[in-house]
Order: sequence, then C-alpha cells, then structure tokens
Amino acid sequence: MHEPIPVRSRFFQSVSAYFDRAADLTSFPAGLLDQVKSCNSVYRMKFPVKDDEGNIVVIEAYRAQHSHHRLPCKGGIRFSAHVTQEETVALAALMTYKCALVGLPFGGAKGSVRIDPRACSPGFRERITRRYTAELIKKNFIGPAMDVPAPDYGTGEQEMAWIADTYRAMKFNEPDLYACVTGKPLDLHGIPGRREATGLGVSLGIKECLDREEDMAELGLTPGIAGKRVIIQGLGNVGSYAAHFLQKAGASIVGIAELGGGIYNPAGIDLRHATRHFRENGSLADFGTGEFQEDPARTLEMPCDLLVPAALEGQITAANAARLQARIVAEAANGPVDDEGEAILLKRGILIIPDLYLNAGGVTVSYFEWLKNLSHVSFDRMSTRISEDAKTKIMDSVEQLTGRRLDPAQRAIVTAGPHEIDIVHSALAETMAVAYHSIHDAWKTRDLPDLRTAAFYVAIDRVCRSYQAHGIFP
Ligand code: NAD
Repeated sequence: MHEPIPVRSRFFQSVSAYFDRAADLTSFPAGLLDQVKSCNSVYRMKFPVKDDEGNIVVIEAYRAQHSHHRLPCKGGIRFSAHVTQEETVALAALMTYKCALVGLPFGGAKGSVRIDPRACSPGFRERITRRYTAELIKKNFIGPAMDVPAPDYGTGEQEMAWIADTYRAMKFNEPDLYACVTGKPLDLHGIPGRREATGLGVSLGIKECLDREEDMAELGLTPGIAGKRVIIQGLGNVGSYAAHFLQKAGASIVGIAELGGGIYNPAGIDLRHATRHFRENGSLADFGTGEFQEDPARTLEMPCDLLVPAALEGQITAANAARLQARIVAEAANGPVDDEGEAILLKRGILIIPDLYLNAGGVTVSYFEWLKNLSHVSFDRMSTRISEDAKTKIMDSVEQLTGRRLDPAQRAIVTAGPHEIDIVHSALAETMAVAYHSIHDAWKTRDLPDLRTAAFYVAIDRVCRSYQAHGIFP
C-alpha cells in the first residue's frame, strides 16, 4: 500500500503558533526567545543511489538540528514520500521542547528522506540509508557527541542497524561509536524496551492524565483508564503498542483507523487479531467483525472517550474537529492536531494531551540506550546481584524475627533483583509521571489556558535558563 498524498499541512505554522502563545507568557528577553525558536542548522542534500534495475535515482534528504543549547542533538529519521524541509524543521523544534520537558540533556533534531519506504525493496532502502549516513558523517551531522538519530515514521531497528554499521565502517577507531544512533536491535548494542517505548510512554502519559479526578469530572468522565472507549489511528510502532498497553490497563479499543480503511465496533475489537489481519493483508478490509469504513478519517469521528492519533501530522484540522466525539485527544503522533483544529477542540471543551509530552517515551529510552553505549555496560549488570543480596538479608531478618517462612517460590519473587527491562520500564514511568506533574502544575498554578501551552511554557523556560546559564545572554 502506497502512502496517501496528504493535504498541505499547517504543521510548521502550528508549532510556531504554539511556541509564540507560550513564549508571550514568559518574561525572557525577545532576542533570547528568538534564538530558542530558530533552527540552528539544516543540511539539505541530494545524492544518487542505484535502484534494483541499476538505474540512478536522485534522493532528496534533510537533517535539521534545531537547537545546540545542549549537545548532542537528538531526533528520529523519517522515511516518507512527502517530507519537506519545513516539516523536518518543525519536527526538530518539537524535539528540542520535548527533550527539555522530560529532562533529557539534548538539543532537538530530525532527519528525513523523501522516499516511500513501502514502495522500496529492502536492498534499495539499505543503499539509501547507508548513503544518507555517509552524507551525515561528511558534514558532521551524526556522532555520539554531535547528533544521534533514532527511528521515526517509516523507519525502525533495521534502518538504525544500517546506520550504526555504516558509521562503524567509517569511524572504526571511535570507542563510543555505537552511541551514534539509538533504536538499534538488541544484538547491535540496543536496549530492551526501546521498541515499545513510545507506545508504552503514551499509555503511561494517558494514565497520569486520567488519574486526576477533578480534571476528569470536568470532562464528565470517571478517573482511570479502565473501561474507557478508545479509537486509535495508525497501527505502526507507536499506535500498536499504545493500543496494546491501553487495552492491558483495561481500556476497550472500539476503533482502528489505518491506510485503506478503518473498523469500528462499540463492543470492542480483538486487537491482536486486527493487528495480525492488517500486517498480513495490508488493510483492515474484510476483518469480519464491526463496521468497516473505507475512509479511515471517518473512523476518527465515531463515538469514544479517547482518540489516539498515532500516524502523522495534520489529521485533525478545521475540516473535521467539530465532528469528533472524543472527550480527550491524546497526541501519540507528532503534530496530529493543527492550530485551527485545536482552537475548535478547545472551544468544545475537549482535552488535548500534547505530543511534546505524550510521545516522549521513545526519546527517553533512547537516552538510556545512548548512556548504555557510552558506558559500555548494561544497567542491570552492576545492580542485579547486589539488590538480590540486600533483599535476601532483609528477608532472612524478617523470617528470623517473625518465626515465619515464605515458601521458596514466593521468596524468589520477593528477593529477585531487577533486570535491565525492569530498570528501563520503571525509569520511563518515573519520567512520564514527573513531566506530567510539572506541566499540570504549571497549567493550574499559573492559570495557563491549556495543557499544550503549559508544556511549551515549561520547555521554553528550561531552554532559556540553559542558554542563560551558559552565559550567552549575560
Ligand atoms: P510507523 O511508520 O511505524 O507507523 C505509522 C502508521 O500510520 C503506519 O502503519 C501507516 O500505515 C499509518 N498511517 C499513515 N497515514 C495514515 C492515515 N491517514 N490514517 C491511518 N493510518 C495512517 O510510524 P511510527 O514510528 O509509529 O510513528 C507514528 C507517529 O509517531 C509519527 O508522527 C512519529 O513522528 C511519531 N513518533 C514516533 C516515535 C517512534 O519511536 N517511532 C517517537 C515519537 C513520535
């Protein structure tokens, strides 16, 4: 299935408008705010790659480093036939604010390659990925201390492996070379938990929001994820894991929108079955149960409590915002709601959980992977046994004092030390909780108009302070 041609997106204007709205509420000097908003460097390239028939195809690609206030820069690489320089810069800017919001020591970046990955053979994709990496190396737009890419729309572990391998071939004497890219396969110095990190982070962020009783009461909803009716757009990396973890927390997935059509079933959809059907057939047509809608955009407008757009930007606009029936829009994708669509949703009292917070789980676990690659040791190696020994000593003392003994199976559970995946998941949960607390606190205590403005406000405050601390603006 080829990518649909999107309507012209207001993505760049929307990110600028969101920035301006929050920046106007701060008291930083205008010049400093200008610097924070500006994209520091963009590399636009064209390079030749041979297709499977031996023809030369000229590929257009970009890497935007939005902010150097912290280094390295960090941000995914997108493969899509519709990427533009403007979109890449907007995505890089969002990465700056996202990293600041969840407390990661990175400037924001984004890369994009203008190809339809679904229409390319694996061999052609590999040649393009390797050549793109070589271009980035030539211009110092990649490296563990400079700029560290990760997966995004249309890319995954395989592309990250090709990037790492190309970097290794050209920079073989760098000791930290595997920290040049994150989202790598486990067998190539990746980290457990990265694959599901963004979708898991989305579900954790939604939980933080839905657990606030007063906020839910204002929306006419009961607190908690359990029992909520959810519609997901996009069954890719982010959408499929977000749906999985929301369902695991007790939500009912009542709608799924994908390329080629959507399905809606108020009684709930068997997610595993639907995902398998989509992967095997490339479409949800003939899934069997529920109502099939040929236009997946229609599925977004069906009754639900929570709409989770997890595909691309510009999905909720002035054209459809008035028809949505959700009470909460949880932005798993980057920029799924544009500024015009947002104005309509907010007027209708619909709560938007903003992208720069909600999908930060991916870059958070990428940060852990980068740290692991720099330290050349897994997180559990230094802690599992010592934690087990400490818990065993406590259990021994408790059993001695009480005269009661746990059975061996229970004892093994209580005294088990954490594995790397446990450390990653708990650090991710903590990150999402702390960040939500900071934006919710800013929203309520500073009387900011909405959660997105609060998220931008907190992020801008942190980036400005970082610039000031460096003495750039004495
Ligand atoms: P992906 O390529 O794995 O999946 C995207 C899915 O969306 C595909 O299955 C595609 O068929 C579907 N899709 C595209 N257009 C659609 C439409 N109009 N209606 C319904 N479905 C449509 O991409 P991903 O990595 O899951 O990324 C999705 C979004 O999340 C993007 O905005 C990306 O920037 C953002 N994001 C991704 C990550 C990550 O770690 N992968 C991290 C943060 C943010």
